[in-house]
Amino acid sequence: PPFSVADIRKTFLDFFAARGHTIVPSSPLVPANDPTLMFTNSGMVQFKDVFLGTDKRPYVRAASVQACLRAGGKHNDLENVGYTARHHTFFEMLGNWSFGDYFKREALKWAWELLTEVFCLPPERLWATVYIDDDEAYDIWTKEIGLPPERVVRIGDNKGGKYQSDNFWMMADTGPCGPCSEIFYDHGPGIPGGPPGSPDADGDRYIEIWNNVFMQFDMAEDGSVKPLPAPCVDTGMGLERIAAILQGVHSNYEIDLFRHLIQAAARETGTRDLHNPSLKVIADHIRATAFLVADGVIPSNEGRGYVQRRIIRRAIRHGYKLGRKAPFFHKLVPDLVAQMGAAYPHLAANQQRIMDVLQTEEERFFETLAHGMEILDAALADGSKLLPGELAFKLHDTYGFPLDLTQDVCRERGVQVDEAGFHAAMEKQKTQARAAGKFKMERALEYNGPASTFVGYEALEAPAKIV
Ligand code: ATP
Ligand code: MG
Ligand code: MG
Ligand code: MG
Repeated sequence: PPFSVADIRKTFLDFFAARGHTIVPSSPLVPANDPTLMFTNSGMVQFKDVFLGTDKRPYVRAASVQACLRAGGKHNDLENVGYTARHHTFFEMLGNWSFGDYFKREALKWAWELLTEVFCLPPERLWATVYIDDDEAYDIWTKEIGLPPERVVRIGDNKGGKYQSDNFWMMADTGPCGPCSEIFYDHGPGIPGGPPGSPDADGDRYIEIWNNVFMQFDMAEDGSVKPLPAPCVDTGMGLERIAAILQGVHSNYEIDLFRHLIQAAARETGTRDLHNPSLKVIADHIRATAFLVADGVIPSNEGRGYVQRRIIRRAIRHGYKLGRKAPFFHKLVPDLVAQMGAAYPHLAANQQRIMDVLQTEEERFFETLAHGMEILDAALADGSKLLPGELAFKLHDTYGFPLDLTQDVCRERGVQVDEAGFHAAMEKQKTQARAAGKFKMERALEYNGPASTFVGYEALEAPAKIV
């Protein structure tokens, strides 16, 4: 293709290097020393302390291609995979930053220049949004860049609440944040969806490609904001989304990199129809889970490891749906390494370990998957539109079906899962286990004296305060 993903990474970095930016490597998916965040969900995560003023770097302009994960934390896109043309769990974000150096004018003008003069996108297909009261950004778009006012949309609290807006960006519930200006590409009238700000903006016709955040505040836990030491710029453009445009396709899943992964998924699952949505899910999830292993996250029952387990099991279930009854997922790793190993050497270096971890998890889940699916199929056979929470909990507890996996199956059949019922059943079991545990403890104390230190279930179960 005219622009492969490798070409786009390089073109982006070269463009910003030529404008005084230091190229910084991607940081791991697990943020360093940041208890407020589950995974690196954007390029700015590794610069959080620079925005806050507590970390200094030898540069004031930076650019990167950042590996991101949006699953199980703030900005969770797990449920979108397989349903939209533009969402992945794992994706790469092209970003440029100013730490107290340039601000809105340079950021927007460079974005426009790269898109229209280097990538040569037709300007009439581009739209922009600004935060509702950001006259400065509005004027830069309309008066300096010359975008017609009909294609510059002001967006306020469209999600309810003062800072709940598509045009107010927050990394997490606390920390650096600010108003933003987003650039959209119109894929044309053949695709359902309305322009930004319209009631059907969530469709896939007008796809958001680049967010320019004007970092100005630090948000505290109570929701109050105070200004950052210096106004900064933080931008993010989805590599797969710009690649789709440059390669003349609509969906991210049709770009060069994904075509290869989807073919590999089809091969391993014996699927002929390359448009089967389960193949997209598997292709997406092999990236997320392989990169997670490469960054040290192994499947477990809590925190990040549980998100990892949930993603792997969802992928396996989609393979099962396509007819696989034995481990297949780990066999995609060499295909992934062939596509992404050059850009991410630590992925290639960990190939065997990634395969081993995935295979072990597959073997374990395949032991109970078929039986669990039988139970679920039987429960859904009567055509009712609500799956009892008790049953979802039984699937979780006995067959290793995470709640979101059960929901994924149910959604395909237009069925809701009684979530409150699921949590109630889980609570009930915990209370019983606790009572039984206490009873055992008392007996142990009675007969053997205080031999062991019981730290209590609370300590073990204390929910990690990460979003
Ligand atoms: P959307 O509204 O489409 O969900 P977003 O507003 O959540 O995107 P941002 O948080 O602004 O996205 O992230 C910056 C850029 O990263 C987006 O403009 C988009 O190009 C890309 N991006 C965001 N989420 C994803 C994803 N799940 N998969 C692929 N690219 C993404
Ligand atoms: Mg989003
Ligand atoms: Mg958006
Ligand atoms: Mg956005």
